[in-house]
Amino acid sequence: MAVSKRIVLHFPRRLVEQPVICRLVKDYDLEFNILKASITPEEEGLLVLELKGAQKEYDKGINFLLKSGIKIQSLSQDVTHNEERCTHCGACITICPADAFELDIQTRRVKFNNEKCVVCGLCIKACPPRAMEVHF
Ligand code: SF4
Ligand code: SF4
Repeated sequence: MAVSKRIVLHFPRRLVEQPVICRLVKDYDLEFNILKASITPEEEGLLVLELKGAQKEYDKGINFLLKSGIKIQSLSQDVTHNEERCTHCGACITICPADAFELDIQTRRVKFNNEKCVVCGLCIKACPPRAMEVHF
């Protein structure tokens, strides 16, 4: 069975320049799509990836990453919509490149679909009441 998942990898400083992701392709026959890459102020590497392949190979690849010292998070845990703060102004709908927000025409409320989010961070700055948060 094939799987496709979006994950966040946190690399310790010693692994930032290692070809760890290439090993996923070569050794486990996985396909990847980099959605975001950055180095944090503490010089930790951060990579948001879409990873695809056979379930068995995917599990082996994840195991390899963990053994290498990389921390893995599911993407959906990282961006949150604080409904108490949200004023449903709609600013995030126009700015989001992944169409992760939707306006419910009947209630005039904005809904966030974290499955679509690619953690670009644009809505964090654009949201007037700071209702969108990223947790890395
Ligand atoms: S920009 Fe912020 S306040 Fe406005 S709809 Fe989006 S999440 Fe809500
Ligand atoms: S972080 Fe980017 S992709 Fe995710 S909801 Fe905000 S604007 Fe959309």
